[in-house]
Amino acid sequence: MHRLERLRDILRALWIERQFRSHDSWTPKQLAEYQQRRLTEAVAHAAAHSPFYRELYRHHLSDTIRLQDLPITDKRMLMDNFDSVVTDPRLTLDRVQQHLRTVHSDELYLGQYRVITTSGTSGLRGIFVYDRTAWSVVLANAMRWGRFAGVAPRWPRRLRLCTIGADTPVHVSQRIPGSGNVGLYRMRHLDVTRPLADLVDALNAFQPEVLMPYPSVASLLAGEQMAGRLDIRPSVVTTHSEILSEEMARRIRTAWGVTPFDHYGLSEEPNVGCECGEHRGIHIFEDTCIVELLDERNRPASPGRLGHKCLLTNLYNRTQPLIRYEISDMLAKSAEPCSCGRPFALITQIGGRGEDMLILKDRRGRDVAIPPMGLTNCIDAVTDVAEYQIRHNPECIRLQVVPQPGADTAELRANLRNTIELTVSALGAKTPPIEVRFVSRLERRRAHMGKIRLVARPSVEPNHGPSGAESRKGKP
Ligand SMILES: [Zn+2]
Repeated sequence: MHRLERLRDILRALWIERQFRSHDSWTPKQLAEYQQRRLTEAVAHAAAHSPFYRELYRHHLSDTIRLQDLPITDKRMLMDNFDSVVTDPRLTLDRVQQHLRTVHSDELYLGQYRVITTSGTSGLRGIFVYDRTAWSVVLANAMRWGRFAGVAPRWPRRLRLCTIGADTPVHVSQRIPGSGNVGLYRMRHLDVTRPLADLVDALNAFQPEVLMPYPSVASLLAGEQMAGRLDIRPSVVTTHSEILSEEMARRIRTAWGVTPFDHYGLSEEPNVGCECGEHRGIHIFEDTCIVELLDERNRPASPGRLGHKCLLTNLYNRTQPLIRYEISDMLAKSAEPCSCGRPFALITQIGGRGEDMLILKDRRGRDVAIPPMGLTNCIDAVTDVAEYQIRHNPECIRLQVVPQPGADTAELRANLRNTIELTVSALGAKTPPIEVRFVSRLERRRAHMGKIRLVARPSVEPNHGPSGAESRKGKP
């Protein structure tokens, strides 16, 4: 993408972030009125420009839109009807998928769209399209995340900032730093699937002042720091994309003497929110999204209780409207406002994104930990996979795969085995046997809060709580 165009998107983001600053001192009433205005606009735009939403809202449009009266949507619904969901008829699932195969850095589709893909924890591949204005909001929210964590540009000696995440620009964890880099910071992005020793070398050489890794990787790096192989002194550590457990936060504090700032994002909404300096939970950026937590009977969940269902409404993506969109994460909101005075609600617990590490042995019999994201990212890069689930133990990696219609399953099986073997051996481990089984659909157990655990160790699954996930308590 042209540097000047990218600069324009970032300048727009800086302007939006300036508006965000004033929202910190809003009253809850001001925030609610703003949300209602933005919701009304989003619904009106969807109904006017998306055939899918026009039909869905046939009986729901009135002068006053009540969010709780609108029907619930989900990823399957939106992917199955992709061509009629999007508000630009030039966008079709086929063409967007074709474009995805050609993305190597920050290329735009039709000169105006950034396309992001994910498996998400439900294992069903999702594709999300942002126009340039919407992407500026994403970047502005990323800047707000930095501001909450105390990160600000510095001149003339620029702040050294290192992100560790996906190795593909079709994932948000690489696309945000990739598209947001115009020289304000000295930035470095490291591929999370690189062997740990490589990451350690790269970090020792770069000496980041701000470290932004997946928490599972941060935890491993903290171990390296404590063992003396890693020697860095970041003043800010902020984690993303996975659940930050108490144990991981503790290791980070021990290694670097800083409390990590947790962040919560999805491909559907790359910045749902992040922690402020009080570390009492994740502030939901409620001026750009609405998060509803519902109980088993679809009633609002009580504050402090883990919701059975979470609905996300994106207030700024006009290209692919997401309104009351069900996500698989189980969340709890705080009953109390944050002591920092911001009006944004706090997420105090996340259940259901726990994807277990795969522990294997290297040639000398030492443990090698494969981050769950390492497995999911490499499978995400294989085309012709509609859904999948990985069950593993040190003896075997078992994949259940729902192939795309018309896929050559023999070729797909070979591709999947190959990509996993490459990932595992790149990390220095010996690959156990890989079994690939093709199925027509994956079983979604309501007893597990509707979660499909994408990557899991079956031996621990039955006794591991309703979602099998580590739940993260608010940190008072
Ligand atoms: Zn706060």
